[in-house]
Amino acid sequence: MSDLGDLYQQTILDHNRNPRNFRRLEKANRTAEGHNPNCGDRIKVFVQLAGDTINDIGFQMPDGAGCAISKASASLMTTAVKGKPVAEAETLFQAFRDMLSGGPIAPGKLAAFGGVRAFPARVKCANLAWHALHAALRNESDPVTTESARDF
Ligand code: ZN
Repeated sequence: MSDLGDLYQQTILDHNRNPRNFRRLEKANRTAEGHNPNCGDRIKVFVQLAGDTINDIGFQMPDGAGCAISKASASLMTTAVKGKPVAEAETLFQAFRDMLSGGPIAPGKLAAFGGVRAFPARVKCANLAWHALHAALRNESDPVTTESARDF
């Protein structure tokens, strides 16, 4: 790996060390689990929807089951979509995924993950939480894995 400095930018380091919304949400009315077997990342996302708005959101990872990238990405994802309409969260998901597959840099702090696309093995780590969010918003009960999602 070259340029670890680019990959682990300050934002990523910060969110990994001090993840936001890193908790089970008792009031959640949507949940989804995600698994990235390539890296071993596991996540559970909790969403409390109020109408079409993401009123609250949280996530958990079993001990040691989330690498720095997956954890930081999940943390940043929760801060990006909390309080937002579902449609806006889906737009951010699309922008984030496009960025990691070589598209334009995503808005706001999500841009911190732009360097990850130089590390194809890490792209799935960064996308995992977003796919879990997407599944939760669509109320899909099957766990998402990086092997089953078509364009993870
Ligand atoms: Zn990972």
